[in-house]
Amino acid sequence: MIFTPKGKHLVAGEWLDGAGTFASAPAHGPAHDFAVGTVELVNRACEAAEEAFWTYGYSSRKERAAFLRAIADEIEARAEAITEIGSQETGLPEARLNGERGRTTGQLRLFADHIEKGDYLDRRVDAAMPERQPAPRQEIRLVQRPVGPVAVFGASNFPLAFSTAGGDTAAALAAGCPVVVKGHSAHPGTGEIVAEAVDAAIRKTGVHPGVFSLIQGGSRDVGHALVQHPHIKAVGFTGSLAGGRALFDLCAARPEPIPFFGELGSVNPMFLLPEALKARAETLGQGWAGSLTMGAGQFCTNPGIAVVIEGADADRFTTAAVEALAKVAPQTMLTDGIAKAYRDGQARFATRNAVKPLLATESSGRDASPNLFETTGAQFLADHALGEEVFGPLGLVVRVGSPAEMEELARGFQGQLTATIHMDAGDLETARRLRPVLERKAGRVLVNGFPTGVEVVDSMVHGGPYPASTNFGATSVGTMSIRRFLRPVAYQNMPEDLLPEDFLG
Ligand code: NAP
Repeated sequence: MIFTPKGKHLVAGEWLDGAGTFASAPAHGPAHDFAVGTVELVNRACEAAEEAFWTYGYSSRKERAAFLRAIADEIEARAEAITEIGSQETGLPEARLNGERGRTTGQLRLFADHIEKGDYLDRRVDAAMPERQPAPRQEIRLVQRPVGPVAVFGASNFPLAFSTAGGDTAAALAAGCPVVVKGHSAHPGTGEIVAEAVDAAIRKTGVHPGVFSLIQGGSRDVGHALVQHPHIKAVGFTGSLAGGRALFDLCAARPEPIPFFGELGSVNPMFLLPEALKARAETLGQGWAGSLTMGAGQFCTNPGIAVVIEGADADRFTTAAVEALAKVAPQTMLTDGIAKAYRDGQARFATRNAVKPLLATESSGRDASPNLFETTGAQFLADHALGEEVFGPLGLVVRVGSPAEMEELARGFQGQLTATIHMDAGDLETARRLRPVLERKAGRVLVNGFPTGVEVVDSMVHGGPYPASTNFGATSVGTMSIRRFLRPVAYQNMPEDLLPEDFLG
């Protein structure tokens, strides 16, 4: 064991105990005790974050870029230990955690480069018009400013890239916002070692220690107190619809409501158009099986639904998918609770008359095996529950009678993170009818690909209409995610010497 957790909270540079302890529940390896978070600790972290904002919120982009790069370096310095504890806690393979660590440090460095370039500030100047009649106009300049302290809730399925120093934290720190992280109870040790890396970077670069705190969970009071704290000005959340909605409602009910950027679940429908299906039904079936079972299906972008037009090509597709899925061995899920929720979801499908099992498997404990079901377009539209996410390797084939019915089905979907069209040249007319529908439904529309795997780039949108996210104008992946933690301020007739430094370089 390379890393033995302290089991404490990190509040503004100090490692603190809480009220009692909770035990981690690793997939393998030893369990550890962690201090339970308290409202008092939340208050302390938020006070420190507010104090830190008075320097960090006004720091130069160069200073913040150096801090972000230092965090990436400190994470890399703990690479082996992070992979070890991360794999133990989540059951994810070491190779996956190594890759995710690279993505996490890559995001931090990407944001460092991004803020140095400065385009994100969206600086605007309307020159003064002293001679204008009937009234002169004063000079007006606009720039984006950080909102203040931000609360971050990481997800269980990305213990590095969507957690303690993941995309939300990187974006908020890049913007100039101190961060208070609510640790995920599924990977408290991974959270702690990453917090240790952030703390080391704080000491190395000399930023205010209140810029980062990690309060471990163990009690729902922590999250509730955090989103309601008056110093918190925005929340970044990745997780379930139920958890996200509960916290979103608390944010909206505050005396001063604040934006809650919740990235929630999605079923990510795929539409397989006739010519593409005729040309490569088997390849599509096998490809779908691979995407559906990647990481035990525990991706928010997992393509849970395939819509096909009834006929022999649809049969070829489902046969290939069943064959490929049947070969997939049981995989360990992130937590006992997620494994149980998967089995409950499976039972929900299996007990519906209108749904036919194509591949039904049994699993136990923390393991999950793939399951595949089939239904008709009419039944799908009549039964809303069939469009709800089952987190894990469960797929549903929806058979429709015609391209027109496929379009009708597309119109019936709720908001999605992604929607995919599989097409060939001969499918263009059908695709042209689907594209406007799908862009109303999803944050990302793909052609001839699988949605698992989200590139961290300038043009990525990882979000979408509710319930995919609680804020359709935002993304939680890619450089545009910094916008969530900024607000525009206009400066009218302000002497140059008084303007924020961001106008200068
Ligand atoms: P989760 O159970 O919602 O947990 C996320 C965080 O919210 C945890 O810190 C959890 O605290 C807290 N929380 C949950 N319910 C709460 C409540 N009622 N009050 C206060 N805090 C609450 O989600 P998860 O298990 O981590 O992730 C699985 C889900 O996330 C899936 O549905 C998946 O599709 C979705 N997801 C979405 C994305 C995306 O980008 N859209 C990415 C990954 C995952 P505890 O630690 O105490 O449980």
